[in-house]
Parts: sequence; C-alpha cells; structure tokens
Amino acid sequence: MKITKIFTFDSSHMLDGHDGKCQNLHGHTYSLEITVSDGLIEAGAKAGMVMDFADLKTIVKQTVIEPFDHAFIYHGGNARESQIAALLEGWQMKTLRLNRRTTAENLSVEIFGRLKSAGLPVCSVKLWETPTSCAEYEGN
Ligand SMILES: [Zn+2]
Repeated sequence: MKITKIFTFDSSHMLDGHDGKCQNLHGHTYSLEITVSDGLIEAGAKAGMVMDFADLKTIVKQTVIEPFDHAFIYHGGNARESQIAALLEGWQMKTLRLNRRTTAENLSVEIFGRLKSAGLPVCSVKLWETPTSCAEYEGN
C-alpha cells in the first residue's frame, strides 16, 4: 500500500555552467510529492494506515522543508555557487550546501536519501520545479 502527501517550499538556486537561463540566480516554488510504501498497521490508534499523515508531515517538515525553505541551495563543489553562498552567509542569510548540482533530478535524489536516513519507508520522491516540469526518483 502506498500513501502520498504533497508539500511546497521556496528556494533560490542556479545551475552554474548551464547553457541557458538556468545559469542565472533564480527561484522556484517547488512542489514535493512524497510517497511511502508499507503494509497496513493492524491494530491500535493507527489501524488501517500505512502511517499517520500527521507523522509523515512531521518527518518531511523536519528533514526537508526546514532546511530547504527560503534557502539558497547550492552545489558545494562549485566555486561560483560557493562564493555566492559565502556572501549570503556573511549577511546571516539562509543557505543549504549540497554535494550535487541542484537540478530537479539531483534534488529528488538528495531528498530521497534524507528521508530514507530519517527512517521513512519512502518509495518515491517527485519534485515539481514548475507546474509542468518534475523529476521523480524511486531509489534507483
Ligand atoms: Zn531553477
């Protein structure tokens, strides 16, 4: 059985070296669909649930929304993105260093890994960068 909950967060980013407009610093209101897969809980207050949507919300908020929302998310391995991050950090502005280029594809992998590490039985992360463009990662 699978359940899905949808979240949103706002982040700024850039794709240094991109051959189009995404090389510029810009932002998205991301929509994030988290799907978890598990058997149904058999007894007690959560009987008949894969997990309580409220518990799913708590984990995703702590693990993803809090670090990503209103942050400049950047590739720590990129010199220019790191320079911008250092400037922002000097002004006490929120940044999030990632070990990969911040494409929708890579962000879905990053978010999947964070949720898995938090113990969530996540089976799919679908990240909408715009209302018509998304990347989906299913752990492989
Ligand atoms: Zn973008």
